[in-house]
Formats: sequence, structure tokens, C-alpha cells
Amino acid sequence: MSDLQQHEFQAEVRQLLDIVIHSLYTDREIFVRELISNASDALEKMRLQQLKEDSIFGKDLPLEINITTDEEAKTLTIADYGIGMTREELVANIGTIASSGTKKFLEALKESGDKADVIGQFGVGFYSAFMVADKVEVFTHSWREDGEHLRWESDGATGYSIEESNDLQRGAKVVVHLKEEFEEFAKPDTIKGLIERYSNFVGFPVKLNDEVVNTVDAIWLKSKSEVSEEEYKEFYKFVGKDYQDPRYTFHFSADAPLMINSILFVPDDNMERMGMGQTPPGVSLYCKKVLIDAAPENLLPEWLRFLKGVIDSEDLPLNISRESMQDSALVRKLGEVMTKRFLKFLEKEAKSDPEAYKEFHTRYARFLKEGVVQSYEHQQALAGLLRFESSMTEEGTQTSFQEYLDRMKDGQEEIYYLVAPNREAIETGPYLEAFKKRGLEVCFFTESVDDYVLENLGQWNEKKIVSADRAEIDLEDVAEEEGESLDEEATKGLVDWMTSTLGDKVAKVEAGQRLVSHPMVALTPKDAPNAHMRAMMKAMGSDAPEMKANIEVNAKHSLIKKLSSFRDSKPELAEKVAKQLADNALLAAGLVENPGQVVSGMGEVLEELMD
Ligand code: ADP
Repeated sequence: MSDLQQHEFQAEVRQLLDIVIHSLYTDREIFVRELISNASDALEKMRLQQLKEDSIFGKDLPLEINITTDEEAKTLTIADYGIGMTREELVANIGTIASSGTKKFLEALKESGDKADVIGQFGVGFYSAFMVADKVEVFTHSWREDGEHLRWESDGATGYSIEESNDLQRGAKVVVHLKEEFEEFAKPDTIKGLIERYSNFVGFPVKLNDEVVNTVDAIWLKSKSEVSEEEYKEFYKFVGKDYQDPRYTFHFSADAPLMINSILFVPDDNMERMGMGQTPPGVSLYCKKVLIDAAPENLLPEWLRFLKGVIDSEDLPLNISRESMQDSALVRKLGEVMTKRFLKFLEKEAKSDPEAYKEFHTRYARFLKEGVVQSYEHQQALAGLLRFESSMTEEGTQTSFQEYLDRMKDGQEEIYYLVAPNREAIETGPYLEAFKKRGLEVCFFTESVDDYVLENLGQWNEKKIVSADRAEIDLEDVAEEEGESLDEEATKGLVDWMTSTLGDKVAKVEAGQRLVSHPMVALTPKDAPNAHMRAMMKAMGSDAPEMKANIEVNAKHSLIKKLSSFRDSKPELAEKVAKQLADNALLAAGLVENPGQVVSGMGEVLEELMD
């Protein structure tokens, strides 16, 4: 037949091929995994299509993958009876890069220097065959009755050709013509080893030269006692497309309220933390071993996107389409049950192996916090999973809200926390000492999002969660043991004078009981967003409202006492010092827009003192 059509590859494909052929020297063998995985995808799609369509070309063909090796011809052939491709699909699918996976691969490759690592994460799909081939042929016929039988061929350089062929079978048959130096991939033993290693869990029989090689087993339908540790790990590597072992494995089955058979995995590390961009959902939805959706968006909440695995429910209607799945109450219910169960699982792990949980928390706390903000119904459970240091833990030792509650003093009604970049900043700052003095525990949080998260949380187990820099916290008086204070009259005089001296720099000046070693502190007035919240709001592009802090003065502090006496004897210096102390307090609270000004003010005061 002479209908040969020549096509050029899209520029991105050429770029990818260039990398694949010239720069990737490690793990060439993964092309076998990639091609089998494509065949398996095509079969999954076929299985779903069979449930919906009556007229299907080659209706009775078995859903299986046939691999044949030919050592003499130096070819490896991977054939499936999947959905196949029409002419348009051939051009769109393997002449252009449409798949987001491959696009992501290209992007990640630009960012990461380590190509092998990136391949492990994404795979390069069909084009990986050109790592070992000087020619690849694809024979294909679509499942549609009116499809043509086509032969696609390319040397992986600039383009490809498509012509009609007379081989009449449904699906796709990929013939890899191996380069001389890679003829090992035409040896049955080599291929057998690779199937066992990478494709053991493909949900269809994989036959090598007519003999079934893989275990076609839906291990999520088995009971826990029937699955070995090794099998879980292998299965994870298969569904998670990872080369490392999983951090957690959660195998869960239930009969009520829904029939569920599932295995969820937490990968060793959080890819988003490694700068890989937002992880796409990684838990597939099955119904009685039939894949409904490989990456459903609405099954699990977005903040569980780091999970990999399988959820299978017999209660789902088999012919559920992706569109109807989006708003199916059943799918929502399924997601709810799984989310609840998974959080319970984490709680149990945290108790039984706190060290391992700490490792998990270091990598994944971000997602828990995201969940606190996004899912009201799981907020309390998620907050219970957070770990942090506190004024009552040693450095490096973490605690939880539950332990905080257990230690709470009689009559204490609130949970206090402070946010700063590190423990030291909190311990030397002006806010902690008032709480320490009264034996009240303060939780230490060190991420800039924490304030926002804790504001959203609001309470844990009915105890209000309050930032310790808030003016409205009502701290009980404590017996004055150390240091004489200014008397009442002098204190009032000083406060009034400071109020007029500081003017509209601050909201209010008060004498207070909080401080021990600091002369002044800036407090956030009731209902105003504090410095961290304001920074968050700015980062998210909304304008933080103008905020003035309250200033609390420590009438026992020697600097304040001197200031009080200087008020009459050296009024000019007193004014400068008062302003500087207020600026210092605002700076410590993160409320100064221009720290340079505070520093130059300090210079002036020092100069005057030297004189
Ligand atoms: P990916 O698998 O990540 O989408 P590939 O480059 O491996 O990327 O494949 C591109 C597309 O070609 C697939 O999405 C699919 O539509 C099509 N394809 C590849 N192999 C087959 C096959 N054996 N049967 C049917 N379609 C296939």
C-alpha cells in the first residue's frame, strides 16, 4: 500500500528524544516497564469501554499483554489487545507531547541536575524505547469498528511515518528494533527478570513467549495476613512509581458503611518539599478490580495528595463515568471514610512509634496544616497529629496538644502559643516571660504559616488557642518578689506622659505585669491580626489593615525607673529614649516596616548619651 505519510515530531518531542538518546545512560532497562505500563493502561481503558459499548472491534480478544523476544532479529515485541489508536490518535499521542506526565518530566529535568532521579520519578513513556532502539514500529487498530489498521515507524530522529497495514487485530503492538549494543534485551531471561522486577503487579496477564510471568493479583483484596512485607513494598514501587520503600503502609478493609478494600502508602519523602511542584493525586479508584480512575481529583481531600495506592469499592456502579464521579455522593462518602480511617491510622502510629512518626511529621506536617485550614470536619483530628516544642520541653523534644492539655494548670482555659523562626528567638523575646513566671506552658511554632493555621483552628478540645502576644490575655497577678516598682502615682504619670509622647505611633500605653527582663513589650490588640498574620495576608496578595499595637511598660525595670526621673531632669533625652524603647518593642513584634529607622534612632540616642 502506498499511502505512506511522513510527519515531523513536535519540537518538544525532539528535545525529549535528544535527551533520551544522548544523555540518559543509567537504567536503560526501564523502557520495558514503560511500554508494559502503556499496554496495561490501554487494557484498563478497554475494560472500561467494554462495559459501556456494544460495538467493539475484536470483541472476544483476551485482555492480556504478549511479549515476544527474537534474538536473531534483535527485536523485542510488546503487544496488547487494548484500545489501540486511530490515525489522529497516533499523531496526537506519539508525535506530540500531550501527556502532562511527560511535560512535567521535561520541566523537572530542566531544574534538576540528576537525570536518573527524575526518570525514577516520572518515567519518559513511550520514547524511552529509543534509548535502546534504532527503529521502533507500532502496529495498531483502534477498538472502534471503523478504525484503520496502521503501521507507525520512526528512527527517533526528526519524524515518523504512518501507513496502512493489513494486520487485523485490535490494540497496539510495539516492535523495538534493538541497537547492536543492546541485544541483551532480546534475551528471554533478561526480559523475564525485568517483568518480575517492575511489572509484577500489572492487573493483566503478562506473557513472555506464551508463558505467563507475573502474579495477576489484586493484593488489596487479600487479607493482611496473606500479604508479606516484601509484597507490600513491591506493590508500592509499582503503584507509586518509586524506587524507595514506603514510609507507611495502611491496608484497610471494611464491609460497612461501604464495602472497601484499600491500600494506602506514604512515600518516603514529600516531593513538594524537594521543590517538585504540586503533587497530582496518586490514589486510584477501582471497582471490583476494574480501574475507574487512575488519579481521581475528588476522592480524597487535596491535602492527602501525597498518598499513593488503591481504593476499591464494590458499591460503586461499574459504569460510573469520570464526570458523574465528580459529584457522586457515594464517592464523597468513600473519601470521607478513608480520610477518617487514615487519620486514625496516623494517630496509632504516632503512639506506637513516636520516633518514626517524628520523621513523618518533619516531612509531611505541611499537609496536616493545610488540612486544618481546608477541612473543618477533620480539623480536630489533624491538629491532634501536630507536634511542636514548648516552654516545657527540652530543645529537640516534641509535644502535642493532648500532652499540653494533660499538663494544664487547674483553671487554665486557654492554650498559648508563640511563632518565631526558632526556639531561641521565642525564648529571648519579650512575650514568653510573663507565662513562664506564672507556670503557664507556651507552644513553640516555627513556620510562618503557623499563625494562620492556628487562628483557623481556634480551639482544641474546647480549649481556646491564643497567641501569647495578645493584649486581651488576662494574666493573674503574681506576688512581687524581685525588684521595687515605681509607685502608683509615678507609674500613672509616666504612662500619661508616654501616651502623649508616642502619639499615634501606638494604640495605647499601659503599665503591666507581664514583663520581667524587658522594659516594654508591644501587644496585639483584640481582634487585630498580629505580625505573622499580616505577613501572610501580604504574601497572599491582600492588604493587611493598618495596625497599631498596645505598649505595655514594666514599672519594675531599671530603665523605666530612670526614664521616670529623667522626665523632669532631662526631658529631651527622656523623650528620645521613650520613643526608642517603643520602637525596639515594635521591632521585636515584627511590626516595624523600616528597621533602618529604628537603628538610626538608636544612633542618635547613643550620641546624646556620649555627650
Ligand atoms: P504517557 O503514558 O505518560 O501518557 P507515553 O509517551 O508513554 O506517555 O504515551 C503517550 C500516549 O500514547 C499515551 O497516553 C496513550 O494515549 C498512547 N499510547 C501509548 N502506548 C499505547 C498502547 N499500547 N495502546 C494505546 N495507546 C497507547
